[in-house]
Amino acid sequence: MNLDRRKFLTLSALTGIISATPSPVRALTLPEPSPKARLRLSCQDSVAPGKTIAEKLDFLEANGFEAFEPHGKDLPNIADELQKALQGRKIKVGVVCGGMQGCLISDQEEERRKGMESLKEVLTAAGALGATGVIMVPARPNQTKLGHWEARELLVKVLPELCDHAQKAGLHLLLEPLNRRECHFLRQVADGAAICRDVDHPGIRVMGDFWHMTWEETSDMAAFIAGGQYLRHVHIASRKNRKMPGEDAGDNYVDGFKGLKLIGYQDFISFECGLKGERSNALIAAVKLLREQWESA
Ligand code: MG
Repeated sequence: MNLDRRKFLTLSALTGIISATPSPVRALTLPEPSPKARLRLSCQDSVAPGKTIAEKLDFLEANGFEAFEPHGKDLPNIADELQKALQGRKIKVGVVCGGMQGCLISDQEEERRKGMESLKEVLTAAGALGATGVIMVPARPNQTKLGHWEARELLVKVLPELCDHAQKAGLHLLLEPLNRRECHFLRQVADGAAICRDVDHPGIRVMGDFWHMTWEETSDMAAFIAGGQYLRHVHIASRKNRKMPGEDAGDNYVDGFKGLKLIGYQDFISFECGLKGERSNALIAAVKLLREQWESA
């Protein structure tokens, strides 16, 4: 028996994994008639200028943003301030980014348990704030000793319990594909969409991040089309250095925007990025660039 086979059998005994046959459902089921896609901007807490949440929301609303994206680890500390600051405004909480402890697909049971419990807590807290989703990265490097195939099988097995919890909380659990240095088996939007297909639960969806896509996709348009009906969120940054969109020479999102228009995308494109210049000016310039490129797509 080779090593991989022996490892899998051990894992199977621990978790009861049985390989499922993928359903024939395809992500590319374009809605009929296709709704007109909309450019709906969102911004992460750490990217928006301002000392308080209220100041950040003032700036974002004044510049046409529809959503604010807090980090999951901050929710216990900022939930009261955020709820108060949102009163009487059009801008809403979009998705909540991360905040999970442990690792859902660790080779250690205690880490898997911690991952499950902490993610449920973030989903509940995010749902109470009216968020549309919680972003989740299944495993960072060194968080699991499982190989590519075993990790994916285990993920598909543990997700339904979390999807049920997400549905009850009124939002989606969002898989985020990362570049190959940050997640070893979930790199492309199509990888995430295929996991959604295999889990086959309305509580699980996928997102795309233009910065990670720079390294992993051969076509932004094709990536978003592959996400199709499963795509529910997008992150954006400059293409080469992950700064504000437009701060790297040649920053271009037109091909991706074409894909989003083809699938009738209705969800948020959210700023997750660093900064080279002055924050307010750079963000205003980035919004202008994105609106121009959206129109030309
Ligand atoms: Mg991201």
